Amino acid sequence: MSEKPRPGPPPDPELGPYYAAAAQGRLVVQRCDACGHAQLYPRLHCTRCRSTVQWEDASGLATVYSFTVIRQHFSRPFRDMVPYVVALVDLDEGPRLMTNLVEVEPDDVRVGMRVEARFEPVGEDAALVLFAPVSR
Ligand code: ZN
Repeated sequence: MSEKPRPGPPPDPELGPYYAAAAQGRLVVQRCDACGHAQLYPRLHCTRCRSTVQWEDASGLATVYSFTVIRQHFSRPFRDMVPYVVALVDLDEGPRLMTNLVEVEPDDVRVGMRVEARFEPVGEDAALVLFAPVSR
């Protein structure tokens, strides 16, 4: 992989707290005040009961639900990153995230693999949440 930075997130007021926490090395999810449901991407209300939600720290642990290996890409900077792994991971708190897997050879990735969050700064006040195999 190249050392060029990945593109950062577009400005989005609802996603701001998520990227700000990531910039501090924290993965956060929204938790419903009434029913306890955890959700991500962020929304103004709980998707189950419409109550208010709060941000809370997540464990950073997840399980690979599905993945694909990108072996060619026609736009920069992704062209310089191939091959790379795009994955859907299920956080231990429940939400399913689309992310990239890092610190692993694409051929070694498996469905059901346990992974943990990594944080890659993009710009001064945001970071991307990526995942790597659990090191413990
Ligand atoms: Zn709820």
